[in-house]
Amino acid sequence: MSDNSLQAISPFYSKHDHRGQPLLISGSCSVESEQQYVQTALALAKTGRVQWLRGGIWKPRTRPDAFEGVGAIGLPWMIDAREASGLPVMTEVANADHVELCLKHGINALWIGARTTVNPFTVQEIADALRGVDIPVFIKNPVNPDLSLWLGALERLQRAGITQLAAIHRGFSHLGDSIYRNKPMWEIPIALRTAYPNITLICDPSHICGRRDLLQRVAQKAMDLGFDGWMIESHLDPDNALSDAAQQITPETLNAMLSEIEIRSPHSDDLTFTHRLQSIRSRIDKVDEEIIHLIGKRMRITEELGHFKRDESVTIFQIDRWKEILESRTMLAEQVGLSKEFITQYLEQLHKESIRKQTKVMNQRDSGPTSL
Ligand code: PEP
Ligand code: MN
Repeated sequence: MSDNSLQAISPFYSKHDHRGQPLLISGSCSVESEQQYVQTALALAKTGRVQWLRGGIWKPRTRPDAFEGVGAIGLPWMIDAREASGLPVMTEVANADHVELCLKHGINALWIGARTTVNPFTVQEIADALRGVDIPVFIKNPVNPDLSLWLGALERLQRAGITQLAAIHRGFSHLGDSIYRNKPMWEIPIALRTAYPNITLICDPSHICGRRDLLQRVAQKAMDLGFDGWMIESHLDPDNALSDAAQQITPETLNAMLSEIEIRSPHSDDLTFTHRLQSIRSRIDKVDEEIIHLIGKRMRITEELGHFKRDESVTIFQIDRWKEILESRTMLAEQVGLSKEFITQYLEQLHKESIRKQTKVMNQRDSGPTSL
């Protein structure tokens, strides 16, 4: 991205400005009936934790015969729930007609779902329908792990004049087995935050986990990583919910779960803490410097090896040596508490760079050894 326009956006909500109090959006996956939704809203308001009520009116179901939402008939039920509970309401929009209907009924905020964020045509259609209306818009990450699509959707909405923007991390589709319905791939929301530190970022543990027993762990992890809050689905009778039954929890369970979560702030004003933090960070800085110097030293030896192999007409890559490096380093790494996954990734990167350097040396056949 060429400009940093999103950096200028004021956070829609930041834990830092609310004394560490996270933003909590809750409500059922789908609005099922007037009674179901109003009762859920009342129970959630009673917890005293929820700031926004969510409810799906149009459901983007993967398979055609799943419950596809009650449709526009449910919008007045959401307004009833707002009046009964005092909580503002938000729903998912997937096209310009949805936007128009939500605005007509006075829905307070909108979100764009993961299956919509992937499609710039639809995101643009929604952005155009919102031109001139400054309503809060929450944008879920796309289903596929593509940071640019997520940023692109935020930019399209921002350029349409939306100033109250927030991002929702709901995990990513993946191949193969996982305990998660959608893998969190935390590095992607972290990259979003790194690119745009001011953006309000919340986590949706419900759609990441797909099952109740993992929700607390994921909600805590989001807090530990500095997210501003959560969107968590809640239903009075989760097992009989018309959509996403396995991941919904009752308002009481939600309340109990959140009581167990350690709330973390991005900063502390405590001076002793700040000094200690600086001292620990300076030790880390020193170690990082040493590591970088050592990697540089290793690469210079690699180049020397490249010259040696070139002069003997020996291949760069030798499988036995690579296997031996992997085995011996992994064993050593495990002894000092580093995971196999981490050390394997590190060695693979190192090996790639080492092969690149040696290839360069091989290709300098006629120029002789460079500065060693
Ligand atoms: C939802 O929030 O109910 C939903 C359909 O979410 P997602 O777009 O994350 O799948
Ligand atoms: Mn859902």
